[in-house]
Amino acid sequence: MEKEISVIVPVYNEQDNIFELYNRLLTSVTSITSNYEFIFVNDGSNDNSLLELIKLSNQDDNVFYINFSRNFGHQIAVTAGLKFCTGNSVVIIDADLQDPPELIPELYGKYKEGFNVIYAKREIREGETLLKRATSKLFYRILKRLISFEMPLDTGDFRLIDKKVVKVLNNMPEQSKFLRGQVAWLGFKQTHVLFNRDNRKNGKSGYSYGKMFKLAMDGITGFSDIPLVFVSRLGLAISFLSFIVILYAIFAHFVLKETITGWTSLIISSLFIGGIQLLSVGIIGEYISRINKNTNNRPLYIIDKSNIQDLKDNI
Ligand code: UDP
Ligand code: MG
Repeated sequence: MEKEISVIVPVYNEQDNIFELYNRLLTSVTSITSNYEFIFVNDGSNDNSLLELIKLSNQDDNVFYINFSRNFGHQIAVTAGLKFCTGNSVVIIDADLQDPPELIPELYGKYKEGFNVIYAKREIREGETLLKRATSKLFYRILKRLISFEMPLDTGDFRLIDKKVVKVLNNMPEQSKFLRGQVAWLGFKQTHVLFNRDNRKNGKSGYSYGKMFKLAMDGITGFSDIPLVFVSRLGLAISFLSFIVILYAIFAHFVLKETITGWTSLIISSLFIGGIQLLSVGIIGEYISRINKNTNNRPLYIIDKSNIQDLKDNI
C-alpha cells in the first residue's frame, strides 16, 4: 500500500544515533500521519548499526532496512532508498541528527501547498571544521558558475520531494550520483525552508575529504562541460603565446644576432607547459572516468539483506 510519507535514512556507522533518530522521527512524522514508513539503508557500517536497525524493524512494522554488502557511499544509499520507497512524499535525512527531524512538518506543509521539492537550507552550520565549511562554500560557488540552471547554495540532501520527482530520479541512469544537483536540474516547483544545522550527535563523520572530493567531481562533471572548454581554450591561448615566443627567438637570433641563453627560461617554460598538460589531461580524465563508469553498467549497489518484501524475494 502507498504511504503518505517515506523517510529515507542513509546509515554508515551510526549505532549510537539510530535510536534517538527513530524516536524523534516518530514524534515528528506521526504528528502528520500514521501512514508512514522509515527506510534505513545501511551502507556497509562496521559497527552495530545493522543490529539496531533489525531491532527497530522488529518493534515497528513501518521500519524497513536495506543492508548493503559493503560501503557504496552516501549518494548510492539514498538512491537505493528512493528506489524502494512507496510514499507520496519522501523525506531524505541524515542519520547523525545534524538534520533536525522536527523540521519535517514544515517541509510537509510546503508540500501540501503544492511544491514538488522542498529543500532545507542551512542557515547556520555548527560544529563542522572551518576547513570543511570553507571548502564546501567554495565548491558551491564554483559549481554555480559552471552550471546553466538554478542550483540552491548551501543545501545538503535534507529535503522533501514528491512522488513525481522520485520517479524522475529513479529513471536517471547515471552511475555517479549527485542527487542535489539532479533534483535542482529537473525543475518542477521548488522552494526551501531555513534551519540551523546542529553538530553531529555521536560518532564521527563518514565523509572523508576523499569522499567529499569525489562528490564535488561528480557534481561538476555531471552537470558542466565548462572545464573541458576551459582546457581547450587554455591550450589555444598557450599555443598562441608559444608561437610569439618562437618568432621572437628566431628574430633575436638572426636579426639581433643575440641568442637568448639560460637555464632558467628553459626550466620555467617546460615546467609551465608540463603543469598545464597534466592539469588538462586530469580534467579530461575525470570526464572519461565518468563515461567509463556509465558504460560498465554495473549495478549501483549490492543488497545483502532486507526486510522489504520485494527485496526479500529477490535476494
Ligand atoms: N553516510 C553513508 N555512507 C558513507 C558516508 C556517510 O551512508 O559512506 C551517511 C551517514 O551515516 C549520514 C549521512 O550519510 O547519515 C551524512 O554523512 P556524514 O554525517 O558522515 O557527513 P557530514 O555531515 O560530515 O558531511
Ligand atoms: Mg553529518
